[in-house]
Amino acid sequence: MATDCIFCRIVAGTIPSTKVFEDDRALAFRDLHPAAPVHVLVIPKEHIASTAHAVVTHETLLGHLMLTAAKVADQEGLAKGFRIVANTGADGGQTVDHLHLHVLGGRSMTWPPG
Ligand code: C5P
Repeated sequence: MATDCIFCRIVAGTIPSTKVFEDDRALAFRDLHPAAPVHVLVIPKEHIASTAHAVVTHETLLGHLMLTAAKVADQEGLAKGFRIVANTGADGGQTVDHLHLHVLGGRSMTWPPG
């Protein structure tokens, strides 16, 4: 755990969140500032700063996060489709330095993103 990390604090329960899924390795909670009717963040409980900081020993965990994102989308009723986004680094638009997958749905998405 990184004590100065907001998402590590959410994992620890010292910052509240609206959880939609949790297991031993991952947590999914609603984004505070939703960009779509459904906007859930899927994070590893282990602190990894970004996808650029992930290493080969994280391979199984990264797969688990993708499957968790798909499970959350199913749970949220996104049968018509959804988007999974992993903003990475400053130019990628990442604002919280704890790896996370955005699961966005409930409306038709546009491409390319801004
Ligand atoms: O990809 P990025 O790093 O910008 O995403 C961080 C996301 O975390 C934002 O969408 C922000 O609304 C969300 N957030 C949150 N709860 C917090 C802090 C940030 O849902 N306490």
